[in-house]
Amino acid sequence: MSLAAKTLADLRSDLENGSCTSVEIVRSLEQRIQAVDGRLNAYLERDFEDALTQAEQADARRAAGETGALLGIPVAVKDLLNVKGQSCRCASRILEGYISPYDATSVAKLRDAGAILFGRLNMDEFAMGASTEHSAYGVCRNPWNTDHVAGGSSGGSAAAVAADTAVVTLGSDTGGSVRQPASFCGCVGLKPSYGRISRYGLTAFASSLDQIGVLSKTVSDAAEVLGVIAGHDPMDTTSLPEPVPDYLSALGGDLKGLKIGVADEFFGVGVEPEVAQQVQAAIDQLRELGAEPVKVSFPHLEYAVSVYYILAPAEASANLSRFDGVRYGNRVEAEDPVALMKATREAGFGDEVKRRILLGTYMLSSGYYDAYYVKALKARALIKKDADAAFAQCDLLATPVAPSAAYRVGEEAEDPLKLYLGDICTIPANLTGGCGISVPCGFSSTGLPIGLQLLGPAFAEERLLNAAHVYEQSTDWHNRKPSL
Ligand code: GLN
Repeated sequence: MSLAAKTLADLRSDLENGSCTSVEIVRSLEQRIQAVDGRLNAYLERDFEDALTQAEQADARRAAGETGALLGIPVAVKDLLNVKGQSCRCASRILEGYISPYDATSVAKLRDAGAILFGRLNMDEFAMGASTEHSAYGVCRNPWNTDHVAGGSSGGSAAAVAADTAVVTLGSDTGGSVRQPASFCGCVGLKPSYGRISRYGLTAFASSLDQIGVLSKTVSDAAEVLGVIAGHDPMDTTSLPEPVPDYLSALGGDLKGLKIGVADEFFGVGVEPEVAQQVQAAIDQLRELGAEPVKVSFPHLEYAVSVYYILAPAEASANLSRFDGVRYGNRVEAEDPVALMKATREAGFGDEVKRRILLGTYMLSSGYYDAYYVKALKARALIKKDADAAFAQCDLLATPVAPSAAYRVGEEAEDPLKLYLGDICTIPANLTGGCGISVPCGFSSTGLPIGLQLLGPAFAEERLLNAAHVYEQSTDWHNRKPSL
């Protein structure tokens, strides 16, 4: 197996016992990226020269006796995370040429643990989308079948891990953008609880929903990276001062007596039969492993998509107002300031981003604010109540991630509503602040991956990761590789 194809855990032990160097890992990734990324377009940027310099330094530090959870491990991030000295375009024209003056806290923590930040990954523009077709820099394709989408908005982050062009990556999840592409590409996608990871330096989409997530080849790799980047940060007052447990040591316990909630509502929302079957088979497998499936209900699930597509655009319309050609964004000159801002935003934003800004501005305008925005907040509270009631009866919920496996490029791009409806299973975790994970649980009849979603209440990551890990280790899905 090439170094590029190995897990973080394996590479770490290889580095520790001296059977490989960080320079060799970077070279192996470089080779793989050069061989396959032309067909995927997962990377918007990568700097091997700089990565090799960092790798040499990491090897020297290791030789001098230094250790670090990620010492000498290359990590690539979604194009909306700030990495000092790298571009941060959010896959948008409006930020073409922008260079970050600082590190996001999560990035600084990766660096402190010894990681090599070497690449930027494709995404839907400003994380708005579910297919990475709304990138200003071209579609990202699915490693299992390049006629199909990689999912989104963290499509590049998922495709790179699945294609062995990255070991682990960071993405962001506002309504499913880590879990859904993980499901489409057949890797692990972890969305931690709201407040678990600092959002400082994560370009804001919808601040009450956004959370940084980890994409990896195995659950234990996700646990490892979560442990590195989690924790309170004075720069983000919504990051909670909860202690950061040792997530790795939480893995491997058995599932005896673990109550897995199954709510019919999650299977009745346009979920294709083969997806429902695979997820049901995974639930059966969890039972074999000692867990106890229990029936629960989630009566307000049907409102989740509407609530999300009011609140997220409303927050986005405010967050994106800073891209006006004055504070941020490539300026298009015009005769007066208003014309300048209009021209800047007209030229800089793509259609989907404009659609969200229009929707959000409308929802927040006087006369509609109470009818839409306030009502959506009330419905959000009902969905939170559903989750609280469900988690009073069970430890974790098991659901599909998305209604289908990855669709063809172009198939849904012209139908935003259909695309929005596909987010129904992932949105609740964002509306409620809970944690969730997508783990590979099978393949469609056309050979595309399908994910199992496990959901937990806020700050139940240890329980969530352990269940996902025990399930994963009892299957062979995570060992399959696309034949690119
Ligand atoms: N698909 C959802 C949207 O388009 C979620 C995106 C995300 O999680 N960033 O808004």
